[in-house]
Amino acid sequence: MPSKLSLPLTGPSDMQHGGSSLSGSSPESRGTPFFTLTSNTKQRHGRKPSKTTIMPSGGKRGTGSGPFSFRRLSATVSPSSPPSATNPAAAIPTTPDAGAAAAACTSEDTILFPRVYEEAWGGPEVNRTEMERARIFLLRMAVMAIDLQAVIAEVRAIVGDESIRTVPGLAWAIQMRIYGNRHAEFTATPLLQAVRFMLIKAHVPQSGFTDRSRAVLDFFFDPTLRRNLEPLLPGEHVCYPYPSGRLRVCIIGGGPTGLASAISLAEKGQGKVEVHVWERRWVVTATGTIDYPPEARRRDQVVTLQDSVTSLLTPRTFEALFEGYPERVWPGSANIQIRKVEDRLLSRCQTDEFHGLIHLHAEGVTREELAAGKCGDFHVLLGTDGAASWVRQNYFRGYEKERGRSYALGLAFDRGAKAGLPWTQSLNMFLTLGQTRYLLNASDYDGRGYLNMQLTEEEWEKMVGVDGKPIHFGAPGCFRLPDGSLPKGFDESRVFAPSEDRSSPLWKSIEDGLKLFGFKESEVINVVRIPIVVQAVREGVQYLPLEDSRFVARPHALVAVAGDAAMTVHFWPGRGLNSGIKAGIALGDEICHALRGGRFAGLQLTAMKEYNDFIMKLQGREHDKRSIPILNQSGSPETLGWLLQQAQAVPEEVAIEW
Ligand SMILES: Cc1cc2nc3c(=O)[nH]c(=O)nc-3n(C[C@H](O)[C@H](O)[C@H](O)COP(=O)(O)OP(=O)(O)OC[C@H]3O[C@@H](n4cnc5c(N)ncnc54)[C@H](O)[C@@H]3O)c2cc1C
Repeated sequence: MPSKLSLPLTGPSDMQHGGSSLSGSSPESRGTPFFTLTSNTKQRHGRKPSKTTIMPSGGKRGTGSGPFSFRRLSATVSPSSPPSATNPAAAIPTTPDAGAAAAACTSEDTILFPRVYEEAWGGPEVNRTEMERARIFLLRMAVMAIDLQAVIAEVRAIVGDESIRTVPGLAWAIQMRIYGNRHAEFTATPLLQAVRFMLIKAHVPQSGFTDRSRAVLDFFFDPTLRRNLEPLLPGEHVCYPYPSGRLRVCIIGGGPTGLASAISLAEKGQGKVEVHVWERRWVVTATGTIDYPPEARRRDQVVTLQDSVTSLLTPRTFEALFEGYPERVWPGSANIQIRKVEDRLLSRCQTDEFHGLIHLHAEGVTREELAAGKCGDFHVLLGTDGAASWVRQNYFRGYEKERGRSYALGLAFDRGAKAGLPWTQSLNMFLTLGQTRYLLNASDYDGRGYLNMQLTEEEWEKMVGVDGKPIHFGAPGCFRLPDGSLPKGFDESRVFAPSEDRSSPLWKSIEDGLKLFGFKESEVINVVRIPIVVQAVREGVQYLPLEDSRFVARPHALVAVAGDAAMTVHFWPGRGLNSGIKAGIALGDEICHALRGGRFAGLQLTAMKEYNDFIMKLQGREHDKRSIPILNQSGSPETLGWLLQQAQAVPEEVAIEW
């Protein structure tokens, strides 16, 4: 399409060096040249030494020291003074070759352009609007640097399209019409560099964001694209801070780990990380917020969160989590129900602070749906979809290993907030630590929680209703009320079979546990069996397979796991949720740190190496020091037999008074 441009453009007479000449009526053939290509063409093919000058972001060429001027300095740049819009004076020494120029400039997240681009853009002495400069610049770049005729023709058509009135509009047209909104490679190309330079010079990264300019910046300054042409063109270069676009993290599973990860990423990303969380248990309420449906079966388990973990949260998140009122059970920890952790973190995600940064989706996602594009574009997929994680099972296959399993039951009880717990939390703690058969996880604040009991495999098989079907969180069992009736919400089939045979050893053990912690049978609201599989992954980060990356806007994505999806621990030592929150915080720290250093360029596994190392260390510590010893201890029938004997030996009055 011929250019329809009718601006008073100027152009050099030797543009044909780029391999194609503009048509006679093209704007470049008129007026005074402000940019001569000849010298640059020689530089491209010759071996001229390279120099680098560092520029403030969006800076215009000039001799002053204002925010949009630059000086060529000979001072060595210090790592503690990275080049930035607010620190425009930082500079690097001129360097003898292009490789050294790149090395000097990429110590922070920066981008290099051939010096000749500056000349093509024109200095302050050239009286043109930014849009005029952008059009001329693109035409020159098309001829000078782009090899493909079809691309040159399309760039010309875009430049000549008078319906495009802004610089982001020009970039958007290139993004859609030439790139098809997808990067086929992570490398920098001449066209990419030209558009990037144009956006920087037109101050788009500093201007107020419209949806269009944001989309354009995210695309052309995608944090995973290489910053520079490789190899660099010979000759002098200018260096700008890289105005990185946002990294998109897609989280599958909005449990405690997913929510903690989302908050950590949004808090530390400083606007450079956008998070999408998908959770199948959520609904959209009438007011448009995201919540759990009122009838949802929520997790009443009480977990003990360690101060060493919660102190890593930002003060605002800590405050949101405990609502200023942590329930102290033991020095250095606080008890809280899982449902409260979820409710409070979910509501924190929906505060104004995270508007536009955290997006919540009240829907589940399967692998097939992901591969079909349900989650759209993302750079990193994070699986926090719990112990049965499909993300781990699909993308870490061969990396999973089971390190052992054991069995437990949980008796959910509710005594009400007024009654609280029978004993003090300190006494509960002593009682829990004094044996390994029973574990009390409960809140004195609302008198609710779970009394857990480890089971032998034989006992596990007996965890059924009178209908012979297993009882679990989805279909719990119940005890009859003293008058023989059933608690509300249960039918006859769900009566816990061993409770009908009061002389059975399993029922006796349950009674012992209730006595030990001072509970009455009537306070138990349901009973479930809980499988415990201690599982590990050998890597915490992988490449997302190409067949599942078809809807991401670049060649591939990374996939990571956290929380129970990464490793399941024995819940006895009370570390699962602690580890999940810790992993979420670490993920936020490590991703944002790597992002600031430009380490996502090329989207290699090394970008998330620190996070991977963290998960491996965490897993080693949790499994070897906590879960495996418990498995070994409870796994032997002799140990369990001994414990049972001891538990039964506690006389009623002692258990109650102790
Ligand atoms: C009885 C018991 C006591 C415990 N006590 C403690 C303790 O004292 N201290 C402690 O630290 N930990 C404890 N734990 C462990 C702790 O509860 C877990 O480690 C923690 O809940 C894990 O959180 P998570 O977010 O990683 O996984 P989950 O809590 O399992 O969350 C996973 C989420 O992913 C969602 N999901 C799954 N698949 C999909 C999908 N396809 N699409 C969308 N969403 C999906 C699920 O709905 C769920 O919300 C205990 C556990 C039990 C069972």
